[in-house]
Amino acid sequence: MGSDILTSNLIPPSHIRNFCTISHVDHGKTTLADHLIGTGGMLPGILAGHLRALDYLESEQERGITIEASIASFTIEQDETYLINLIDTPGHVDFSGKVTDALYLVDNSLIIVDAVEGVMAQTITVLHQALREQLNLVLFINKIDRLITELHFDKSQLRGRIEGITGETHVICQGTKYQGLIPSFSNNRVLIGSALHGWAVDQLTATEIGGIDRIISLYAGGFKKENIPAVAKIGIVFKNTMVSQFIAPDDFQQLYYPKENYRFLADNFSSDLQHCVPSGKVMCQVGKKFRDDDKDIISLVRIISGTLSTGQKLYSLSLRAWVQVIKILQFRGNRSIALEQASAGYIVGIVGTLNIPTGDILLPEEFDGRSPALHYIQEPVISQVIEPVNYEDIDDLIDELTIIAQIYPNVQFEQRGDTGELVISGIGPLQLEIILEELEEQGFDIYISPPQRVEYLALETDEQQMGLLSGNTAHAFRNTGEYVDGVIYTDDLNNSLKIHINEGSLDEKAILSIFHTKLRNPVRLRGKIRELGLDLDIHENIGDLNYEETLVYFTQLLNQVFNDLGFVPVRPWVKFRVRCPESYIGRVVNEIQKLQGTVLKIITQETEQIIAMIPVEKMTLIVDTLRRAADGNILWEILSTEYIEK
Ligand code: GDP
Repeated sequence: MGSDILTSNLIPPSHIRNFCTISHVDHGKTTLADHLIGTGGMLPGILAGHLRALDYLESEQERGITIEASIASFTIEQDETYLINLIDTPGHVDFSGKVTDALYLVDNSLIIVDAVEGVMAQTITVLHQALREQLNLVLFINKIDRLITELHFDKSQLRGRIEGITGETHVICQGTKYQGLIPSFSNNRVLIGSALHGWAVDQLTATEIGGIDRIISLYAGGFKKENIPAVAKIGIVFKNTMVSQFIAPDDFQQLYYPKENYRFLADNFSSDLQHCVPSGKVMCQVGKKFRDDDKDIISLVRIISGTLSTGQKLYSLSLRAWVQVIKILQFRGNRSIALEQASAGYIVGIVGTLNIPTGDILLPEEFDGRSPALHYIQEPVISQVIEPVNYEDIDDLIDELTIIAQIYPNVQFEQRGDTGELVISGIGPLQLEIILEELEEQGFDIYISPPQRVEYLALETDEQQMGLLSGNTAHAFRNTGEYVDGVIYTDDLNNSLKIHINEGSLDEKAILSIFHTKLRNPVRLRGKIRELGLDLDIHENIGDLNYEETLVYFTQLLNQVFNDLGFVPVRPWVKFRVRCPESYIGRVVNEIQKLQGTVLKIITQETEQIIAMIPVEKMTLIVDTLRRAADGNILWEILSTEYIEK
């Protein structure tokens, strides 16, 4: 079955279903996914539920969290052949960017909730994002077996718990501008079941098999798989749900496109955006990136319209350049197969001649619009210096770090010009830890410095007034030698003043005047200057001053200029949001304050949330501290980096 269809015939949008899963760690997402994929014949039925097809990254298994927004494509037969693309969403804060990547590629979202634990903070956060994207929702309440065998719930308690969880999701959905159907039993979008034991029911099947009584009776005298009624087999029930409750990409696009991300394209492209026709103009939305065994960087793309072929050239809106598609790949578990073509509604991986950024849009013609907004760009706040144990590895290590910085959102890599150090920076300690593990897996033997906060010598001022020497203006400053016996210019690192003095005198007034001019020069640097390095290149003592004294002298002069121009020194703080059950709020607030943080707001409508700020250097401590304070029942999300006056 499967493979022939996937490789030879293109499946029309009406027969495609694209969905993501949303769930808290351990609520059963992987167990369920294996059943679903099992229905496509990709895994022999006997292995379904035992293989962890989506969890193939080793570090993911060790940690019990899902790192990559993995995709699995498979076909199912329900009278006709349907292509299903399942994207797995990670839930950890450091990867919040990737959740968004996953959500804007799909049309449907399957929310999985553990019946014993209920709806958790992480699920709520991602659900909010799904609601913003207007995704079509289905709720699966998993681990019903535990309510029966461990908690010994009777029929009315069971019903109460199920209604409780459904009610919670209703409250979340109703508090938003969501326009889609809210899952309920009556619209057949709530399912209950046990992924572990391989059964599930929706409203229709529940009635057919004899209701909750029949489910409870499955566990009387010990559970036996063969007692599951045929119609309640989880693969069969979900097959039906995927076909009849999930929305197809053409229907979805007609309802909701152009979405916010695409609105700027509307005049030129909206008809094709909306109709999702394989014969239309080829347009693609680019999602997350990852790397395969061949070290190709693969971008996951959703084909919004048209038919994409290997070798085709498309215009990248972000790069403002033409990209040729070298490979089109479809992912089946941890295998990929090359396709010649993929058409509207497909989600595939592509390898292109250029490295296309996440969030990009690929178009059939040059277009002079602005790039689509990316939701997750945050400045790195933590960095680590990496050094190879064997110096011969340095070039390979640089290549590897360059690739990593291209793949992971919010990660930066630089080789410091002054020291040659390799520095990798990211938005959170866990993110860096995972990257370092990846390096080790790739066979690099490395030394790693402890995490340090990214150094910002941040100075905030009126943007007009602020200016800074930058690499491309370097030459302009070389001829300022008329003022001093030497020159002031920048090196190629943007924020560095390089002062070169050959010999002789220092004319204080002249130096001040140069600093003034340079710092007034309007350069848009997001309203702040950071890492202003002062690099003195002095060949002999100047006047009475030795090197150290000259350094002090220049620093004082610079400070004087900053003062004159009204610069205010600031230090970076991280603003973040924490969600946890109400009973933990006191403890969490207490811990934030102990780490010198400031609690800005506590919100108790919708869900319990705390909005707070901490100095960047406390970032490494806060994740574990808060996790412990709330017994693990916490989700935190970085909102922004803010600069506060020292
Ligand atoms: P994920 O982290 O959401 O992918 O969760 P997994 O699928 O890895 O499941 C976490 C744990 O819960 C595993 O030990 C599963 O065997 C178990 N589990 C999953 N579904 C069920 C279920 O329906 N009932 C019970 N009792 N355990 C389950």
